[in-house]
Amino acid sequence: RLSKRKEEKGPAPGAARAFRELPGQRDMELIREAASALGLENPFFRPHEGVASATTRIGNREVINYGSYNYLGLNGDARVQAAAQAAIARHGVSASASRMVSGERPVHGELEAAIAAHYGVDAALAFVSGHATNVTVLGHLMGPRDLILQDAAIHNSAAEGARLSGARRIAFAHNDWRAAERELGAARRGARRALIVIEGHYSMDGDIPDLPRFIEMARRHDAWLMVDEAHGMGVVGATGHGIHEHCGVDAREVDIWMGTFSKTLSGCGGYIAGNADLVAWLKHSAPGFVYSVGMAPALAAAALESLRILAAEPERVARLQANSTLFLRLAKEAGLDTGTSAGFAIVPVIVGSSVGAARLSQALFDRGINVQPILYPAVPDSSARLRFFLSSEHTEAQIRQTVAALRAVMSGTQQAELAR
Ligand code: PMP
Repeated sequence: RLSKRKEEKGPAPGAARAFRELPGQRDMELIREAASALGLENPFFRPHEGVASATTRIGNREVINYGSYNYLGLNGDARVQAAAQAAIARHGVSASASRMVSGERPVHGELEAAIAAHYGVDAALAFVSGHATNVTVLGHLMGPRDLILQDAAIHNSAAEGARLSGARRIAFAHNDWRAAERELGAARRGARRALIVIEGHYSMDGDIPDLPRFIEMARRHDAWLMVDEAHGMGVVGATGHGIHEHCGVDAREVDIWMGTFSKTLSGCGGYIAGNADLVAWLKHSAPGFVYSVGMAPALAAAALESLRILAAEPERVARLQANSTLFLRLAKEAGLDTGTSAGFAIVPVIVGSSVGAARLSQALFDRGINVQPILYPAVPDSSARLRFFLSSEHTEAQIRQTVAALRAVMSGTQQAELAR
């Protein structure tokens, strides 16, 4: 019936045709065709049943899972669920308005106070999305007369926010504070304000910055330093306080802390933590806060309860770090290329071609292990990889089984096969 209607209506209207010409559409089709010619299933958008933790249910099969950011197993924890359910019973599902207008609920302020206390800084502000937090805060804070120095591996959300700001943007070599300082030295004088943006734990490589060096350098050049702790919260540092704990630095030395509720804290949303004036200013003027709905009360309550558990049960962080260290050590012993991973929770296994990474992901999936390939154009083809997210809930047996499977698939003729 559809095709008959199409015929009656004639060719697609101009606007619909134009959608097919959008950048990347053809590439996407070619990749899909190539993958299906190679007999590979699409590894993206796979529906999971139940709670995705150390294992997950995909297509009626329970598989070992390295694809979720449930670093401390708090998503699925009965206490976190009970907190969310209590918030729904009290407030319903939505905050139903911008917080400034009438979307404020007590749990918003409680969560922000807990985040500020976690860092030992003045104040914090919660946004509905981590991605939107970076976009709106960077876009709003910086302007055309300013300078933003961003790590070459910075997350898309920070890069988008920097672009939105209209500031002059310079990317420096990944984790290279000396390169950043050279750029800053050359460009600082022409700029009104300068901001350096780094991450506390990089999501592609699982490595960390030399935070004290970045702090000193920012200070020398009168620049602000912003650290995105999306993957550092609950993961890095002996008790999961993040990169500042790991480096023995007072969190107040960093001007702007940013993080997300979607990973360790098992909710959804983002936050900024730091100086009281900065937070008050954002609260009254950042478009992505003022003109957007308040965080769903249940998600705020889930994040708040997760923070409480993180503080009360530091053994979860120790288990996560032990699991990650074990995975990294076994992978290295197996001769796998794990890049610059620091072994906190994220371990890449670099395969060296997108086809090889897709094949390896499929071979592991066939053996009951779910891990996502990272392919060109997300990374250069030569550094296409599998990215393993470890969790406190993985068992030693699961980790050993996984590395053994990796070694088996990648050894001998199969390795040559993957590289083709
Ligand atoms: N920053 C970093 C470093 C991230 O990796 C991500 C998402 N993975 C975000 C920000 C965005 O956070 P969210 O997914 O919670 O929107």
